[in-house]
Amino acid sequence: KSKAEGRGRFAFFEPALQEAARARRALEFDLRAALALGQFELFYQPKIHLGENCLSGFEALIRWRHPLRGLVRPDDFIPMAEDLGLIIRIGEWVLRAACSEAVNWPEGLSVAVNVAPAQFYTGSLVPAVAAALAASGLPGPRLELEITETALLRNGPEVLRQLAALKALGVKIALDDFGTGYSSLTQLRSFPFDRVKIDRSFADDGVVVRAVAALGTSLGMCVTAEGVETAEQMRRLRQDGCTEAQGYHLSRPVPVPALPGIIRRHLEASNVEESNR
Ligand code: C2E
Ligand code: MG
Ligand code: MG
Ligand code: MG
Repeated sequence: KSKAEGRGRFAFFEPALQEAARARRALEFDLRAALALGQFELFYQPKIHLGENCLSGFEALIRWRHPLRGLVRPDDFIPMAEDLGLIIRIGEWVLRAACSEAVNWPEGLSVAVNVAPAQFYTGSLVPAVAAALAASGLPGPRLELEITETALLRNGPEVLRQLAALKALGVKIALDDFGTGYSSLTQLRSFPFDRVKIDRSFADDGVVVRAVAALGTSLGMCVTAEGVETAEQMRRLRQDGCTEAQGYHLSRPVPVPALPGIIRRHLEASNVEESNR
Protein backbone atom coordinates (compact mmCIF):
# COMPACT_ATOMS: atom_id res chain seq x y z
CA LYS A 1 0.00 0.00 0.00
CA SER A 2 2.72 2.41 1.02
CA LYS A 3 4.58 1.64 -2.18
CA ALA A 4 1.56 2.57 -4.25
CA GLU A 5 1.12 5.77 -2.25
CA GLY A 6 4.75 6.69 -2.78
CA ARG A 7 4.45 6.16 -6.48
CA GLY A 8 1.23 8.12 -6.50
CA ARG A 9 2.88 11.08 -4.84
CA PHE A 10 5.80 10.97 -7.23
CA ALA A 11 3.44 10.83 -10.17
CA PHE A 12 1.57 13.79 -8.73
CA PHE A 13 4.60 16.06 -8.35
CA GLU A 14 6.57 15.22 -11.45
CA PRO A 15 4.10 16.53 -14.02
CA ALA A 16 3.85 19.78 -12.03
CA LEU A 17 7.62 20.23 -12.19
CA GLN A 18 7.68 19.31 -15.85
CA GLU A 19 4.92 21.79 -16.50
CA ALA A 20 6.83 24.57 -14.69
CA ALA A 21 9.98 23.78 -16.69
CA ARG A 22 7.98 23.72 -19.91
CA ALA A 23 6.38 27.08 -19.12
CA ARG A 24 9.79 28.55 -18.39
CA ARG A 25 11.22 27.28 -21.67
CA ALA A 26 8.26 28.75 -23.53
CA LEU A 27 8.80 32.11 -21.85
CA GLU A 28 12.53 32.00 -22.66
CA PHE A 29 11.72 31.23 -26.26
CA ASP A 30 9.33 34.19 -26.43
CA LEU A 31 11.80 36.49 -24.68
CA ARG A 32 14.52 35.70 -27.22
CA ALA A 33 12.18 36.87 -29.97
CA ALA A 34 10.65 39.84 -28.14
CA LEU A 35 13.24 42.42 -29.14
CA ALA A 36 13.05 41.56 -32.84
CA LEU A 37 9.24 41.60 -32.67
CA GLY A 38 9.18 45.04 -31.05
CA GLN A 39 7.29 43.84 -27.98
CA PHE A 40 9.10 46.02 -25.44
CA GLU A 41 7.66 49.32 -24.35
CA LEU A 42 8.75 52.01 -21.94
CA PHE A 43 6.36 53.46 -19.39
CA TYR A 44 7.35 56.68 -17.64
CA GLN A 45 6.84 57.69 -14.02
CA PRO A 46 7.03 61.40 -13.09
CA LYS A 47 9.71 62.58 -10.66
CA ILE A 48 8.62 65.55 -8.57
CA HIS A 49 10.93 68.13 -6.99
CA LEU A 50 9.65 68.59 -3.44
CA GLY A 51 11.04 72.07 -2.77
CA GLU A 52 9.61 73.68 -5.90
CA ASN A 53 6.75 71.21 -6.25
CA CYS A 54 7.52 70.85 -9.95
CA LEU A 55 8.10 68.06 -12.44
CA SER A 56 11.82 67.35 -12.84
CA GLY A 57 11.56 64.48 -15.32
CA PHE A 58 10.54 60.85 -15.68
CA GLU A 59 11.93 57.41 -14.92
CA ALA A 60 11.69 54.96 -17.83
CA LEU A 61 10.35 51.55 -16.77
CA ILE A 62 10.31 48.69 -19.24
CA ARG A 63 7.23 46.58 -20.00
CA TRP A 64 6.90 43.54 -22.25
CA ARG A 65 3.71 43.46 -24.26
CA HIS A 66 3.27 39.71 -24.68
CA PRO A 67 0.65 38.64 -27.25
CA LEU A 68 -0.95 36.14 -24.82
CA ARG A 69 0.19 37.19 -21.35
CA GLY A 70 -0.54 40.90 -21.79
CA LEU A 71 1.68 43.50 -20.16
CA VAL A 72 4.51 41.74 -18.30
CA ARG A 73 6.26 43.64 -15.50
CA PRO A 74 10.07 43.79 -15.40
CA ASP A 75 10.40 41.72 -12.22
CA ASP A 76 8.84 38.84 -14.20
CA PHE A 77 11.31 38.89 -17.10
CA ILE A 78 14.42 41.00 -16.32
CA PRO A 79 15.99 38.24 -14.15
CA MET A 80 15.42 35.77 -17.02
CA ALA A 81 16.86 38.25 -19.53
CA GLU A 82 19.93 38.52 -17.29
CA ASP A 83 20.31 34.71 -17.13
CA LEU A 84 20.03 34.42 -20.90
CA GLY A 85 22.44 37.29 -21.56
CA LEU A 86 19.68 39.16 -23.38
CA ILE A 87 19.84 42.06 -20.96
CA ILE A 88 22.72 43.68 -22.84
CA ARG A 89 20.75 44.18 -26.04
CA ILE A 90 17.54 44.98 -24.15
CA GLY A 91 19.51 47.56 -22.17
CA GLU A 92 20.78 49.14 -25.38
CA TRP A 93 17.24 49.31 -26.72
CA VAL A 94 16.02 50.97 -23.48
CA LEU A 95 18.74 53.61 -23.66
CA ARG A 96 17.99 54.46 -27.29
CA ALA A 97 14.22 54.53 -26.76
CA ALA A 98 14.40 56.64 -23.59
CA CYS A 99 16.84 59.18 -25.06
CA SER A 100 14.91 59.62 -28.29
CA GLU A 101 11.70 60.13 -26.26
CA ALA A 102 13.25 62.58 -23.79
CA VAL A 103 14.72 64.80 -26.50
CA ASN A 104 11.11 65.84 -27.30
CA TRP A 105 10.46 67.12 -23.76
CA PRO A 106 11.04 70.68 -22.50
CA GLU A 107 14.74 71.26 -21.78
CA GLY A 108 14.44 71.22 -18.00
CA LEU A 109 13.17 67.63 -17.92
CA SER A 110 15.50 64.65 -17.59
CA VAL A 111 15.04 60.94 -18.09
CA ALA A 112 16.22 58.22 -15.71
CA VAL A 113 17.12 54.79 -17.08
CA ASN A 114 17.65 51.64 -15.01
CA VAL A 115 20.87 49.77 -15.72
CA ALA A 116 21.53 46.08 -14.97
CA PRO A 117 24.79 44.99 -13.30
CA ALA A 118 25.73 42.89 -16.35
CA GLN A 119 25.86 46.02 -18.49
CA PHE A 120 28.80 47.08 -16.32
CA TYR A 121 30.55 43.72 -16.19
CA THR A 122 30.57 43.27 -19.95
CA GLY A 123 31.85 46.79 -20.52
CA SER A 124 28.99 47.45 -22.96
CA LEU A 125 27.39 50.30 -21.02
CA VAL A 126 29.67 53.23 -21.82
CA PRO A 127 29.58 52.73 -25.62
CA ALA A 128 25.80 52.09 -25.48
CA VAL A 129 25.21 55.35 -23.60
CA ALA A 130 27.47 57.30 -25.96
CA ALA A 131 25.62 55.83 -28.97
CA ALA A 132 22.16 56.59 -27.52
CA LEU A 133 23.11 60.21 -26.80
CA ALA A 134 24.65 60.67 -30.25
CA ALA A 135 21.71 59.09 -32.09
CA SER A 136 19.08 61.12 -30.22
CA GLY A 137 20.91 64.39 -29.76
CA LEU A 138 19.96 64.38 -26.06
CA PRO A 139 22.50 66.33 -23.99
CA GLY A 140 24.34 64.06 -21.50
CA PRO A 141 23.16 65.94 -18.39
CA ARG A 142 19.53 65.17 -19.24
CA LEU A 143 20.17 61.44 -18.91
CA GLU A 144 20.45 59.82 -15.49
CA LEU A 145 21.45 56.17 -15.02
CA GLU A 146 20.05 54.29 -12.03
CA ILE A 147 22.36 51.59 -10.75
CA THR A 148 21.86 49.29 -7.78
CA GLU A 149 24.25 48.37 -5.02
CA THR A 150 24.78 44.90 -6.55
CA ALA A 151 26.38 46.54 -9.58
CA LEU A 152 28.98 48.09 -7.28
CA LEU A 153 29.91 44.89 -5.47
CA ARG A 154 31.75 42.90 -8.12
CA ASN A 155 34.89 44.25 -9.69
CA GLY A 156 34.93 47.51 -7.72
CA PRO A 157 37.75 49.44 -9.44
CA GLU A 158 36.52 48.59 -12.95
CA VAL A 159 32.98 49.73 -12.12
CA LEU A 160 34.32 52.98 -10.67
CA ARG A 161 36.34 53.54 -13.86
CA GLN A 162 33.19 53.10 -15.97
CA LEU A 163 31.19 55.42 -13.73
CA ALA A 164 33.89 58.03 -14.24
CA ALA A 165 33.69 57.51 -18.03
CA LEU A 166 29.91 58.04 -17.84
CA LYS A 167 30.38 61.23 -15.83
CA ALA A 168 32.77 62.39 -18.53
CA LEU A 169 29.84 62.11 -20.98
CA GLY A 170 27.95 64.49 -18.68
CA VAL A 171 25.53 61.74 -17.62
CA LYS A 172 24.15 61.75 -14.06
CA ILE A 173 24.39 58.67 -11.83
CA ALA A 174 21.85 57.61 -9.22
CA LEU A 175 22.15 54.85 -6.63
CA ASP A 176 18.78 53.03 -6.79
CA ASP A 177 16.94 51.03 -4.10
CA PHE A 178 19.30 52.34 -1.45
CA GLY A 179 19.14 50.41 1.81
CA THR A 180 18.12 47.04 0.37
CA GLY A 181 21.59 45.81 -0.58
CA TYR A 182 24.62 44.92 1.45
CA SER A 183 26.15 48.35 1.55
CA SER A 184 26.25 50.69 4.49
CA LEU A 185 25.80 54.42 4.54
CA THR A 186 29.55 54.83 4.10
CA GLN A 187 29.35 53.14 0.70
CA LEU A 188 27.65 56.31 -0.48
CA ARG A 189 31.08 57.88 -0.32
CA SER A 190 32.69 55.35 -2.67
CA PHE A 191 31.62 57.44 -5.65
CA PRO A 192 30.22 60.96 -6.15
CA PHE A 193 26.68 59.90 -7.06
CA ASP A 194 24.40 62.69 -8.19
CA ARG A 195 21.45 61.11 -6.47
CA VAL A 196 20.49 58.45 -3.97
CA LYS A 197 17.04 56.87 -4.19
CA ILE A 198 15.73 55.56 -0.89
CA ASP A 199 13.98 52.23 -1.42
CA ARG A 200 10.22 52.33 -1.01
CA SER A 201 10.37 49.90 1.92
CA PHE A 202 11.62 52.89 4.00
CA ALA A 203 8.89 55.34 2.97
CA ASP A 204 7.43 55.15 6.49
CA ASP A 205 10.73 54.91 8.37
CA GLY A 206 11.50 58.49 9.41
CA VAL A 207 14.73 57.53 11.18
CA VAL A 208 16.22 55.96 8.04
CA VAL A 209 14.90 58.68 5.73
CA ARG A 210 16.33 61.49 7.86
CA ALA A 211 19.72 59.74 8.17
CA VAL A 212 20.04 59.08 4.41
CA ALA A 213 18.73 62.56 3.52
CA ALA A 214 21.23 64.20 5.87
CA LEU A 215 24.21 62.15 4.66
CA GLY A 216 23.21 62.34 0.98
CA THR A 217 22.68 66.09 0.92
CA SER A 218 25.85 66.73 2.93
CA LEU A 219 27.72 64.78 0.23
CA GLY A 220 26.10 67.04 -2.38
CA MET A 221 23.62 64.47 -3.66
CA CYS A 222 19.92 64.80 -4.39
CA VAL A 223 17.82 62.45 -2.30
CA THR A 224 14.76 60.85 -3.87
CA ALA A 225 12.08 58.96 -1.97
CA GLU A 226 10.55 56.09 -3.96
CA GLY A 227 7.12 54.57 -3.54
CA VAL A 228 5.25 57.54 -2.10
CA GLU A 229 1.66 56.37 -1.88
CA THR A 230 -0.07 58.93 0.38
CA ALA A 231 -0.19 62.69 0.92
CA GLU A 232 0.87 62.12 4.52
CA GLN A 233 4.04 60.25 3.43
CA MET A 234 4.78 63.02 0.96
CA ARG A 235 4.48 65.68 3.69
CA ARG A 236 6.81 63.77 6.04
CA LEU A 237 9.37 62.99 3.33
CA ARG A 238 9.57 66.69 2.47
CA GLN A 239 9.98 67.54 6.15
CA ASP A 240 12.66 64.84 6.54
CA GLY A 241 14.82 66.49 3.90
CA CYS A 242 14.17 64.58 0.68
CA THR A 243 14.76 66.50 -2.54
CA GLU A 244 12.46 64.55 -4.83
CA ALA A 245 9.63 62.06 -4.68
CA GLN A 246 8.14 59.39 -6.91
CA GLY A 247 5.17 57.18 -6.29
CA TYR A 248 1.61 56.20 -7.01
CA HIS A 249 0.38 59.19 -4.96
CA LEU A 250 1.90 61.47 -7.62
CA SER A 251 1.41 59.21 -10.63
CA ARG A 252 1.72 55.61 -11.69
CA PRO A 253 4.09 54.91 -14.57
CA VAL A 254 2.24 55.93 -17.76
CA PRO A 255 2.57 55.01 -21.45
CA VAL A 256 4.06 57.53 -23.91
CA PRO A 257 0.71 58.96 -25.16
CA ALA A 258 -0.03 60.23 -21.63
CA LEU A 259 3.21 62.26 -21.41
CA PRO A 260 2.24 65.47 -23.24
CA GLY A 261 -0.79 65.93 -20.95
CA ILE A 262 1.29 65.53 -17.79
CA ILE A 263 4.00 67.86 -19.08
CA ARG A 264 1.43 70.48 -20.13
CA ARG A 265 -0.35 70.42 -16.76
CA HIS A 266 2.92 70.92 -14.91
CA LEU A 267 4.03 73.76 -17.20
CA GLU A 268 0.65 75.49 -16.74
CA ALA A 269 0.87 75.07 -12.96
CA SER A 270 4.33 76.61 -12.85
CA ASN A 271 3.23 79.48 -15.13
CA VAL A 272 0.34 80.25 -12.75
CA GLU A 273 2.85 80.33 -9.87
CA GLU A 274 5.11 82.69 -11.84
CA SER A 275 2.30 85.18 -12.57
CA ASN A 276 1.16 85.08 -8.93
CA ARG A 277 4.56 86.22 -7.67
P1 C2E B 1 12.93 50.49 -9.63
O1 C2E B 1 13.91 51.07 -10.59
O2 C2E B 1 13.23 50.65 -8.19
O3 C2E B 1 11.53 51.14 -10.03
C1 C2E B 1 10.52 51.40 -9.11
C2 C2E B 1 9.42 50.37 -9.16
O4 C2E B 1 8.43 50.69 -8.18
C3 C2E B 1 8.66 50.33 -10.49
O5 C2E B 1 8.20 48.99 -10.67
C4 C2E B 1 7.48 51.25 -10.22
O6 C2E B 1 6.38 51.00 -11.06
C5 C2E B 1 7.17 50.88 -8.80
N1 C2E B 1 6.52 51.97 -8.07
C6 C2E B 1 6.56 53.30 -8.31
N2 C2E B 1 5.84 53.98 -7.40
C7 C2E B 1 5.31 53.07 -6.57
C8 C2E B 1 4.45 53.16 -5.41
O7 C2E B 1 4.04 54.22 -4.97
N3 C2E B 1 4.13 51.98 -4.80
C9 C2E B 1 4.57 50.78 -5.25
N4 C2E B 1 4.19 49.69 -4.59
N5 C2E B 1 5.38 50.66 -6.33
C10 C2E B 1 5.75 51.79 -6.98
P2 C2E B 1 8.38 48.26 -12.07
O8 C2E B 1 8.10 49.21 -13.19
O9 C2E B 1 7.61 46.99 -12.01
O10 C2E B 1 9.92 47.95 -12.12
C11 C2E B 1 10.51 47.08 -11.18
C12 C2E B 1 12.01 47.08 -11.28
O11 C2E B 1 12.42 46.55 -12.56
C13 C2E B 1 12.63 48.47 -11.24
O12 C2E B 1 12.74 48.90 -9.91
C14 C2E B 1 13.97 48.22 -11.89
O13 C2E B 1 14.88 47.71 -10.96
C15 C2E B 1 13.64 47.14 -12.91
N6 C2E B 1 13.54 47.76 -14.24
C16 C2E B 1 12.53 48.50 -14.77
N7 C2E B 1 12.83 48.90 -16.00
C17 C2E B 1 14.06 48.44 -16.28
C18 C2E B 1 14.95 48.54 -17.41
O14 C2E B 1 14.66 49.19 -18.43
N8 C2E B 1 16.15 47.91 -17.31
C19 C2E B 1 16.52 47.21 -16.20
N9 C2E B 1 17.73 46.61 -16.18
N10 C2E B 1 15.73 47.11 -15.11
C20 C2E B 1 14.51 47.71 -15.16
MG1 MG C 1 14.87 52.78 -10.75
MG1 MG D 1 14.12 51.76 -6.94
MG1 MG E 1 13.87 48.14 -7.77
